[in-house]
Amino acid sequence: MSADNKDPRLAVLVDSIVRLSRGELSSRIEPSSARDEVDAVITGVNLLAEELEQVYDQFERRVESRTAMLRQAHLDLMKMAMSDALTGLANRVALMDGIETALAGAQAGALPPALILLDLDSFKTVNDRFGHDAGDRVLQEVAARLNGVVRESDMVARLGGDEFAILLPEVTMDVAMQVARRALQVLGEQIQLDHLYIHSRASIGVRLGDPGQNADALLLDADTAMYAAKREGRSIIKVFEPLMLYTRQLRSQMATELRGAITSNELVLHYQPVVELATNRVLGVEVLVRWQHPVRGLIPPDTFIPLAEEIGAIHDLDRWVMLTSLRQLAEWRRTLPLDDDFQLRVNLSAVELKQLDLVDHVRSLLRDLGVPAQCLVIEITETAIVTRGEVEMYSLLSLQKLGVGIEIDDFGTGYSSISYLRELPVSMVKVDRSLLVDLDHRPGQLEFVAAILQLIRAAGLEAVFEGIETKEQADQLRELGCASGQGYYFSRPLPAPAATELLTASKFLKVTVDAP
Ligand code: C2E
Ligand code: CA
Ligand code: CA
Repeated sequence: MSADNKDPRLAVLVDSIVRLSRGELSSRIEPSSARDEVDAVITGVNLLAEELEQVYDQFERRVESRTAMLRQAHLDLMKMAMSDALTGLANRVALMDGIETALAGAQAGALPPALILLDLDSFKTVNDRFGHDAGDRVLQEVAARLNGVVRESDMVARLGGDEFAILLPEVTMDVAMQVARRALQVLGEQIQLDHLYIHSRASIGVRLGDPGQNADALLLDADTAMYAAKREGRSIIKVFEPLMLYTRQLRSQMATELRGAITSNELVLHYQPVVELATNRVLGVEVLVRWQHPVRGLIPPDTFIPLAEEIGAIHDLDRWVMLTSLRQLAEWRRTLPLDDDFQLRVNLSAVELKQLDLVDHVRSLLRDLGVPAQCLVIEITETAIVTRGEVEMYSLLSLQKLGVGIEIDDFGTGYSSISYLRELPVSMVKVDRSLLVDLDHRPGQLEFVAAILQLIRAAGLEAVFEGIETKEQADQLRELGCASGQGYYFSRPLPAPAATELLTASKFLKVTVDAP
């Protein structure tokens, strides 16, 4: 075949191969009727194209499915990064994201979002008493209940620990309050875990967002409101007010100062006599700490002890009080003719009972200062012991074995029943001063106090009454057969020099004037 009359099928073939190589895999060549060698090549090329097209299709499908898998994995990861593993709720990251979106919506003219923060009131007790497993189940139940009070478009989140949040994207204050009240209500209902019934109430803070606000500021405000709810008595709802922020800043400043106060000797101790009601003999003194603030003056302990507990400074504070007051007692024992049964009564915070080295610390202090263990009484509020953790019980039992007296303070304000007290390593009960208020004039109050006294005695314990302010109260208690007490009627708490003077003067208190 000459070059001039070239087979036209060859040009078609070349063209087709070029197209195939460009990726046009669907191109095919029509075979001729000649059925010769060229047709054989055409068929071969068509088969190759077919094969290529199939391989390519398969490849595309595989890429598609892998891409879909990747996309799913990414979604799963996002979900994991945005949710809380224990409860399945949104986590902090997701919440902040949601708040930002909602605030942006408000900027653009939508209703503002509301943020409701909830903190369980006694979750730590649940963990301590029933274990972390029970704690986890309580958190899951709380999550389910909160999910039950919101709509699909709202977000329930867990911020960690026992802190939850509800974000309502576009609402009025009225609606936010309705949701908060419903949350308070459902959390107020007891939670059943197997045979246990647990109460898990919450303190709630509510903040309606300002359109110009950022997410962090909104969270801080809601948190501040929740914090105020906690401080004001728990299990209540507080709506954010700017003043709360100021109070909180003040507290945080005070916290810093308090830490410094313990190390720089700004704390001072006052001593209040405890007397034998029949004779006015001074049986001992209760140690009461105060803070001599360089600017604010003398601050009472009710103001800073809860703060010290909150910021973890109570440990250092209590140990300082113990050391300083035992030193004072050792000095009095050396320089004054004190009775052998004279007792120093030191208040101890609940956290201190959790310290494994507390007993060793007390033992070595007593030994170093040469003070017999019987001269020390530790006062602990009944709410502190009611959880009855293992370490707490170990501390109490070991202290008792050492010979140190243990007294339940503020009796009558908390949970304890007498039968319960009997099971504790306790030798004395200090009846709260609120029981003496109105003793003189409220009908039935005297009988009530008499009954309490009977119960304490029946449990084999000794009762001490605090807050005795008038002669009448002292007389009435004496008539009831109460052995000892303390209060402004006998003496106010005194700074060390005045206490030394009082103890030097006589073993018997001279009571001359009634306190106002
Ligand atoms: P508390 O242990 O119940 O102490 C008795 C409180 O009643 C003292 O208040 C005392 O000054 C006051 N008081 C005494 N007699 C009378 C009275 O006749 N009438 C009235 N109305 N009050 C009277 P204070 O000193 O302000 O202490 C308050 C609380 O602070 C104490 O209550 C105790 O729980 C705590 N606290 C004091 N010192 C310490 C300490 O060193 N460590 C710890 N952890 N807590 C302490
Ligand atoms: Ca006390
Ligand atoms: Ca008390």
